Amino acid sequence: MSDIALEDIGCPLNCPRGDEPILTGRDLINGLPGAFTIVRCRTCGLVRTNPQPTPASMSFYYPHDYGPYLGTQVQAAAPRRKLFASFRRVARKLFEFNATRLPKLPAGRMLEIGCASGAFLHKMAAEGWQVEGIEFSANAAAAARALGYPVHSGSLETAPMPSEPFDLIVGWMVLEHLHDPVLALKKLKAWMKPGGWLVLSTPNAGALEARVFRDSWYALHLPNHLYHYSKKTIRLVLSKAGWELEKIHFQRVLVDPIASFGYVLQKIGMSRLGYKLIKFPEQPGYWTYALYPLAVVAAAIGQTGRMTIWARKAR
Ligand SMILES: [Zn+2]
Repeated sequence: MSDIALEDIGCPLNCPRGDEPILTGRDLINGLPGAFTIVRCRTCGLVRTNPQPTPASMSFYYPHDYGPYLGTQVQAAAPRRKLFASFRRVARKLFEFNATRLPKLPAGRMLEIGCASGAFLHKMAAEGWQVEGIEFSANAAAAARALGYPVHSGSLETAPMPSEPFDLIVGWMVLEHLHDPVLALKKLKAWMKPGGWLVLSTPNAGALEARVFRDSWYALHLPNHLYHYSKKTIRLVLSKAGWELEKIHFQRVLVDPIASFGYVLQKIGMSRLGYKLIKFPEQPGYWTYALYPLAVVAAAIGQTGRMTIWARKAR
């Protein structure tokens, strides 16, 4: 722990210094040491973890079995229950969870930031897209390359300029992990064709569930999440980097409050039930569909814990 360097970071929107502390939390996903404070910029309202582990010391909080690295491996005909598999196929068509929702575009060149083991690259390649990835985890990047896709292994900051610009850049649950989101978004803009689309998902720290569960909110994910965006602040950050926010889809899922409740149960000693609820987002099942009507209502009023944003580079 002693070699985990923390640094004091100002608001990336260059606001004058002045932060309101909101809460202090811990790494609940991996149980690694450290206490982290969340602050809100008094000028623009952007919420961030501050101080933050430096980029060099951050790898401590990404162990090799870090969930998201494992979660997107392309499964070779998984031995899953047949009935559930067919139910899920039909349900996926009927229900719109909005998690990886894209604008309707002709196939072109796509870049995925944080492509993990390449499952989404694989899906888009099958639809005719010419795909590339950037992935911080060397193991996950190697897995994606083994599928035949060009993947830069390292951070977005160190990634070289692509040979040709992109029509579409996506990043699923990545933006909140980046140390300098404005710089990263400016870099992505330089790699984009005029009129190209940027599609990102990120937790919605403006949701009621974030205020209710506070340091037990599942999507707070300290210290890996360095920024905690809301509908208002995501627009500010995008606009600072020169992007026009076109649309926000609040995802029709309520897995985060369930997992957050699991953390609360663990705190009061109900570890076994708590653990079951915490694993919920990784293995959503029938409950995801049972909660769907409620999730539709919550999403319609901007109150689910995850959002997918569509932004465009001005022509
Ligand atoms: Zn600010």
